[in-house]
Amino acid sequence: MKRRNFLKNSSLTAAGLVSASAITACNTENKPVETPAVATTPVDPIKPIVVCTWNFLNATDKAWEVLKSGGTSLDAVEQGVMVEEADVTNETVGKGGRPDRDGNVTLDACIMDKDGNCGSVVYLQNIVHPVSVARKVMEETPHIILAGKGAEKFAYEQGFKKEDLFTESTRKQYEEWLNTSKYETTINIENHDTIGMLAIDANGDLSGACTTSGMAYKVGGRVGDSPIIGAGLYVDNEVGGATATGVGEEVIRTVGSFLIVELMRQGKSPQEACEEGVKRIMKKNEGRKDFQIGFLAINKNGETGGYCVHPGFTYREYSEKGHVNREVKSFYS
Ligand code: ASP
Repeated sequence: MKRRNFLKNSSLTAAGLVSASAITACNTENKPVETPAVATTPVDPIKPIVVCTWNFLNATDKAWEVLKSGGTSLDAVEQGVMVEEADVTNETVGKGGRPDRDGNVTLDACIMDKDGNCGSVVYLQNIVHPVSVARKVMEETPHIILAGKGAEKFAYEQGFKKEDLFTESTRKQYEEWLNTSKYETTINIENHDTIGMLAIDANGDLSGACTTSGMAYKVGGRVGDSPIIGAGLYVDNEVGGATATGVGEEVIRTVGSFLIVELMRQGKSPQEACEEGVKRIMKKNEGRKDFQIGFLAINKNGETGGYCVHPGFTYREYSEKGHVNREVKSFYS
């Protein structure tokens, strides 16, 4: 690749400054060179650090507690998102998640570690902590995704307990919904509070997790982006990680989280990469305004960024610098 083109394709920010020697090597030897991972950087990496979609204070608190006591990023993200899975007031994750149109509460989750190992469960019923089942899939089986009845059977074999995931509130809402049976996506948090979490531990290693009950009143059998590695979540320990919330179909169509990590690999900052990810989606949906997507990313230096389609998406960040809920810029104002 010619140096001129290389520079055009890369945004050389402090976060992803590509070493000059890599470029020179490419020029003089005139042969393909691997796209560099996040290259030399002048900033001190921020670690440990955890971020998650939306304003999940208790979940980030839990993850931070794990990281502060020297725990791994993998334990931090699992234990962090478990807080939301157990919270019955969060009606888009775990117990208390809203059902599909047939009245089944079906959960999707995945987890990914620093070595690129990953596990996922889709259409899982009757289990409060799908993220932990996903971790078991990753650690105890030669597979990556287990679905439906097979995933549920595996969970019981691993010692998970059967539990009714409906609450009084979600059952009542579902009964009311049956009167119209109208499927509508609500733009912000009312219908999208999937938790995607990314963490870097004291060793500088990255992991991520994502868990959801998916779109409320979805068609029975529907699986969204959240448990799909590369779509709802992706982590590359050399570069960074990304996760998504919002209408999963659109995230899958662009393989959103993988795209964002690859954009960071090419030198974009987390912020720039998330903006590009949303713009790719909007290009395929020109003029469409009836859906929300929020992307969140972190690079190996602990720099973070987010971007969304409509205002309202925030992400929570916790590091030694403090605990903040960051509002992100949006495609539409
Ligand atoms: N992304 C999730 C899904 O499509 C839903 C959400 O984030 O609200 O299943």
